[in-house]
Amino acid sequence: MAMLAPDHPVVLKAWDRLHSLGAISDDAGRLTRSFLSPASRRAAEQILAWMEETGLSTAHDALGNLRGRHEGRGSRPPLLIGSHYDTVVDAGKFDGPLGIISGMAAIELLASQGRSPEESVDILAFADEEGVRFHATYLGSRACIGELDEALLGTRDARGITVAEAIAHEGWHEGASEIVYPPGSASAYLELHIEQGRVLENASLALGVVPSICGQVRGRIELRGQAEHAGTTPMPLRRDALAGAAECVLAIEGIAKLHDPLVATVGKLDVWPGAGNSVPGECHFTLDVRHPSDGQLEDALKAIERACREIAGSRRLEIVFEILQRGAAVQADDAWVATLAAAVAEVTGSPAPRIPSGAGHDAVVMSAVAPMAMIFLRCRAGLSHHPDESITREDLALGIETLAKVIDRWCNSPYNHS
Ligand SMILES: [Zn+2]
Repeated sequence: MAMLAPDHPVVLKAWDRLHSLGAISDDAGRLTRSFLSPASRRAAEQILAWMEETGLSTAHDALGNLRGRHEGRGSRPPLLIGSHYDTVVDAGKFDGPLGIISGMAAIELLASQGRSPEESVDILAFADEEGVRFHATYLGSRACIGELDEALLGTRDARGITVAEAIAHEGWHEGASEIVYPPGSASAYLELHIEQGRVLENASLALGVVPSICGQVRGRIELRGQAEHAGTTPMPLRRDALAGAAECVLAIEGIAKLHDPLVATVGKLDVWPGAGNSVPGECHFTLDVRHPSDGQLEDALKAIERACREIAGSRRLEIVFEILQRGAAVQADDAWVATLAAAVAEVTGSPAPRIPSGAGHDAVVMSAVAPMAMIFLRCRAGLSHHPDESITREDLALGIETLAKVIDRWCNSPYNHS
């Protein structure tokens, strides 16, 4: 059971750091830190200062990715623990920074117990995960695996500035070094992140482990009927695109409900002509479908497409069913998931639930170069990307203790289990 009290100095310090980082913002009165912004730079300097206080040797690259390295005496490739420090607009304090600050705290805790890690551990703080500025996610971690290709570097922000230009003119070049992990150069990548959902809270559990990060498909559906007079067109003669869309939305919801843990969402609907006295002639709507298994995601997508086409057919509507974006599911490393789950169970005294992540994380990118696994920490009401995002100091203590246990165990296991 947990040994680390929520008022232990290491926990109090981590708690304070999370709150002071949460006050570093580009906007007055709300938290917003986007890629290469002035607040982003101030936050980076602050995190580096804390890494130094923790006894880590620090480095940053031109994008503002940060590394604090605990140099171990051992010969294994470093264990990576990280997350991101950029935020969405009007964000909460914990999405991202939790993983960075608690990683540092775990090293500090071990050092204070005379168990400073034998092997090297790198604490990573990525400069861009949310993709607010360029609508291209994971710029930070992608740079750290050497994956910033021409297409990505040519992506433009709202002012027409490309990623390459932003790095060249706004980047942090003074004292910069490369932070790149080729495949096999790290023992594993671990990330502690708020759950951003309500599974843990509903189960009254503080921590869970992530067996996989869901694959995602984004699509767009267009239904075309006939716009005409709402007063003079009898019901049997109508080709109402919005009524068809409504039936599609319910069919999509029904398919998702039958295939747990599938989630499917229609989040935006545009109606033409959009007048109160016209039968809707056209309706376009978005589709977002996620599942931890790519195969089952494809099956569900086929079922959704079939249902929408049938509904369109029965209502004499034309249909365009378009897939705009596909992201494959990523599986966490089984051995590391088991290690994390055992540590969670020991620290919390409860079994660790397996929660597939419906949201993307830096771990998706880092899984290309090292075995990956994640821990989720309960957040109040599942709320995130919102200023009311909240965790407790008690849960933070459990998270730090779990990370410390995992690092300690990895250093002292006779094998490198990746
Ligand atoms: Zn995040």
